[in-house]
Amino acid sequence: MSRPVVLGIAALLSGIAACAAKPAPQATNAAPPAAPTSNAAAGKYQCPMHKDQVSADPNAHCPVCGMHMVKVTDK
Ligand SMILES: [Zn+2]
Repeated sequence: MSRPVVLGIAALLSGIAACAAKPAPQATNAAPPAAPTSNAAAGKYQCPMHKDQVSADPNAHCPVCGMHMVKVTDK
């Protein structure tokens, strides 16, 4: 009496596992093009006040205001 129930549960669990293992289709294509600052991707640090001042040097300072550049975080 209990065996069909166990098999049913096993099938259900394997179905859930297969479903969870599937990659989310929207995650790959949903990323829109980045902000208009096309050059920002090259540099990893930018001035908090002047977003157009970008540098790959983690110790760089903004040439406009002299502030220490902060790491760019993708949003
Ligand atoms: Zn600045």
